[in-house]
Amino acid sequence: MTQPHPTPADIERAIRNIPDFPKPGIQFKDITPVLADPRLFAASVDLLIERFKPGMVDAVVGIDARGFIFAAAAAVKLQAGLVPIRKKGKLPYRTHEQDYALEYGTSTIAVHVDALKPGSRVLLIDDLLATGGTAAAAVALIHRLGAQILEVSFLIELSFLAGREKLKGCPVRSVVVY
Ligand code: AMP
Repeated sequence: MTQPHPTPADIERAIRNIPDFPKPGIQFKDITPVLADPRLFAASVDLLIERFKPGMVDAVVGIDARGFIFAAAAAVKLQAGLVPIRKKGKLPYRTHEQDYALEYGTSTIAVHVDALKPGSRVLLIDDLLATGGTAAAAVALIHRLGAQILEVSFLIELSFLAGREKLKGCPVRSVVVY
């Protein structure tokens, strides 16, 4: 007998909450138990790309670092390219950079200047939407390259931080919402 396909509730049960990591007050969502379970990992990828079929997406863009895990698997399944958006200073060729606000201070992410063709259809993926600063900066970089964002997909959304507000104008979907 085949087992039923895991649901978002099954994935949610496997996400481990780590209080006060990496600093006091943060409830860190640890996805490693999801990745370690082959059925939950596969179901996570399937749910992230639920609205798309091969041929509908030119590139899956993943955000440094946990976003890469899901974006890479999604790109293979959708027969699309994979484009990494990385922390500043990691990409070897010429880049566009975008600053964004953190709880304390700012950070910068970057993309290669030739990573996406103008007009290309992009699915943007990250593991978690918190305040939305990271994803909004990624959206700005993708728009600077002239590409079109079909959807921004997250495995986890911390809805009480209202990150969606920063992504107005893009369709946003999350598999597990807290
Ligand atoms: P933000 O820019 O506030 O939406 O933060 C999103 C980024 O920070 C994502 O790339 C997440 O991997 C990471 N992140 C933020 N908050 C958490 C959390 N509570 N647990 C795990 N990762 C987090």
